[in-house]
Amino acid sequence: MYDVIVVGAGVAGCRIAELIARKGFNVALIEEHADIGTPVQCAGLVSHRLKALLPDLPDSVFLNQVNRAKFFYSSNRPISKPNFELRSKKPVHVIDRAELDKSLFEKARASGAKTKRSTKFTSYRIKEDKIVISTNKGKIESGLLVGADGPNSLVAKKAMLEPPENYLAGVQATIDAATASNEFDADAVELWFGSDITPDFFGWLIPLSPTKARIGLATRQGALNYFKNFLKKRIGTTVKPDVGGRINFGLMENTAAERVMVVGDAACHVKPLSGGGVIYGLIGAAYCANACVKALRAGDFSAGFLKQEYDEKWKRQLQKPIGRGLRYRKILLGSGNRMNLLFNIAGKLRFILESFDMDLL
Ligand SMILES: Cc1cc2nc3c(=O)[nH]c(=O)nc-3n(C[C@H](O)[C@H](O)[C@H](O)COP(=O)(O)OP(=O)(O)OC[C@H]3O[C@@H](n4cnc5c(N)ncnc54)[C@H](O)[C@@H]3O)c2cc1C
Repeated sequence: MYDVIVVGAGVAGCRIAELIARKGFNVALIEEHADIGTPVQCAGLVSHRLKALLPDLPDSVFLNQVNRAKFFYSSNRPISKPNFELRSKKPVHVIDRAELDKSLFEKARASGAKTKRSTKFTSYRIKEDKIVISTNKGKIESGLLVGADGPNSLVAKKAMLEPPENYLAGVQATIDAATASNEFDADAVELWFGSDITPDFFGWLIPLSPTKARIGLATRQGALNYFKNFLKKRIGTTVKPDVGGRINFGLMENTAAERVMVVGDAACHVKPLSGGGVIYGLIGAAYCANACVKALRAGDFSAGFLKQEYDEKWKRQLQKPIGRGLRYRKILLGSGNRMNLLFNIAGKLRFILESFDMDLL
């Protein structure tokens, strides 16, 4: 019998498994895919906090660094120059997301976590003194179950921890500079706003090098059509997407049940304004690992104890920024007219905007 079973070997799951194993507990990390890190569902743009949270990541994770963001407001006009540009005070990393997951998976394993690939969680049942987890490979028993199984979390569904209704579908492709009719700067991210690009989010171009970039967008409905139009507008041709996935955002009412916690995208640890979930997922993972250790030491796996030690604690750090992100989202993406106005004044407010912390919006 395990102390903890973690479902999902993404950033959140691998990190929790590592932190719990390092405390000497018996933890299993199960992942439905055979290969860790794929399929990739990420644009790979993360703040300087990644290195602060995980100081010993290998260089292979880091592909590029950007320090400027160019903002475009399209509204059906042809655009050649950005409306305004902001400079980041701290470096922003462009990462190889599959490499990050692989590296965290190896760290979990090296710390003593048992890892099981091609193992899919299907349901669970609570018996008096344990939780019995069903997978495609049979049953496993444990003290606790952690659902780090992403935005379509089955663990959350089974525990009746429902996500908020806000969601977006993201699509992305990798392009060569040679494909693009306009060149891009290797040290600047492009962010494209406007109802013709996407009515409820933004399009992005993230340089990997002077010759390669990721281009994508997210929206609630019709992502592929918007993506095609955006590609035509920005690079003059269409290419097949190589990344797609769901982004949930908002504040979940509860992320803990009897013997169960959810974390990362499964707990909506996502910035509502940018859809970024890597940093919040890692922050959530640290709270979840601490709560697991406390529950195991106290022998208390009740919903009340886990809510107090996990749900309430992570919310003390992330509830405010998530709330702020939701409010800014409404202001920025709520109306075309308002966005037009914001774009007109944003250049003049550059010094204020440049002082914002991208993880706290
Ligand atoms: C298009 C797109 C672009 C994005 N860009 C960025 C970005 O630039 N920066 C950023 O910070 N965030 C970005 N995000 C969000 C980011 O990718 C997620 O927040 C992050 O991956 C969440 O990590 P996680 O560990 O919680 O979940 P995931 O990375 O989704 O990992 C969940 C794991 O659980 C496994 N799993 C699922 N169900 C089961 C099951 N039943 N049994 C066993 N295993 C299971 C999955 O296979 C997966 O490996 C983007 C998302 C999308 C869709």
